Amino acid sequence: MPVFGGIVFRDITVARIVVTGGAGFIGSHLCDYLIAKGHEVIAVDNLFTGSKSNLAHLFDNDRFEFIRHDVTLPLMLEADEIYHLACPASPVHYQYNPVKTIKTNVIGTLNMLGLAKRLKAKFLLASTSEVYGDPKEHPQKESYWGNVNPIGPRSCYDEGKRVAETLTVNYRESNDVDTVIVRIFNTFGPRMLFNDGRVISNFVLQALQGNPLTIYGDGSQTRSFCYVSDLVKGLVMAMDKEGFHGPVNLGNPDEMSIKDLSEVIIGLVKSSSGVEFLPGLPDDPSRRKPDITLAKKALGWSPAVSLKDGLIKTIEDFSRRLNSAPPP
Ligand code: NAD
Ligand code: UDP
Repeated sequence: MPVFGGIVFRDITVARIVVTGGAGFIGSHLCDYLIAKGHEVIAVDNLFTGSKSNLAHLFDNDRFEFIRHDVTLPLMLEADEIYHLACPASPVHYQYNPVKTIKTNVIGTLNMLGLAKRLKAKFLLASTSEVYGDPKEHPQKESYWGNVNPIGPRSCYDEGKRVAETLTVNYRESNDVDTVIVRIFNTFGPRMLFNDGRVISNFVLQALQGNPLTIYGDGSQTRSFCYVSDLVKGLVMAMDKEGFHGPVNLGNPDEMSIKDLSEVIIGLVKSSSGVEFLPGLPDDPSRRKPDITLAKKALGWSPAVSLKDGLIKTIEDFSRRLNSAPPP
């Protein structure tokens, strides 16, 4: 540590980093990664879908702090970088209170950009593949403007994130805030909530409990699933890349149908579960696959963990939590 006049200064290779949504699924893995790299981390979260248990192992670390705070309210603290992830991500959670979801994306992002402006901190927005809506271009490139229903059940999230992107670009262009936008595609891994309604958490839990796997529609819709450790590395590479502003897609281009996914999970769990076809969801995107050419070229990032290896780790985590917790 450099020492001047008896005062110990922080090593400039160590940053103080705010992670909003830090108690959530991706946010808590990001906190782990940043702490392991030697940084100081302040996780800011209102615990709507996040949980202190995701961070419990960090509470004894003197480089880690947790602040229970809702980003729709102004926040005053000091930091060098802000990863802005606060927002419920699963359709069940973001549709629970759609107006709150919009406030989180619009007012919350405005507040965090204002904080970044005051601090001259670099700001990363966790945007989403949902900005492409039900895409008419496949795979989706960053240049595609999307096909989003402004008044459907998903619009509070999709349009909220689109405004968050607009705000982020406007703060960079008009207010000189250094920003980067990443568009995250479906991500999975340990610590996903049992009841978040997302396809991997539903299928893994159903397979472990011997219940039928619930397929909405005929199961021909596709998604491309990225393991959380790959995603976290991509977020940090996007933040650390000097002069890079995105938007950039981060996801695993390994596309598969939901029906095929159900078979893979039943096989890996060695479950006796069958499948049950339920009515399709309104505005459910029929295909989704990231074009990650830009992430490869600009960041040197590409995912390394296969769907199978990621699922094995996720199944182990769900199984361990199921056996140590009262059934959900
Ligand atoms: P998550 O629901 O597990 O985490 C979100 C966190 O934000 C939770 O801890 C929640 O309590 C917190 N939060 C919500 N509203 C808040 C508010 N108003 N103030 C403070 N905290 C608030 O979801 P996740 O999967 O970890 O997603 C993290 C981010 O990544 C989100 O912005 C999401 O839109 C984005 N994303 C995720 C995926 C994915 O597949 N998981 C895909 C695309 C984008
Ligand atoms: N899905 C499903 N059964 C479930 C949960 C989800 O068939 O129990 C489908 C859902 O209709 C969608 C896909 O899986 O087509 C991915 O859903 P998820 O909620 O995980 O993510 P998103 O739709 O936001 O990509």
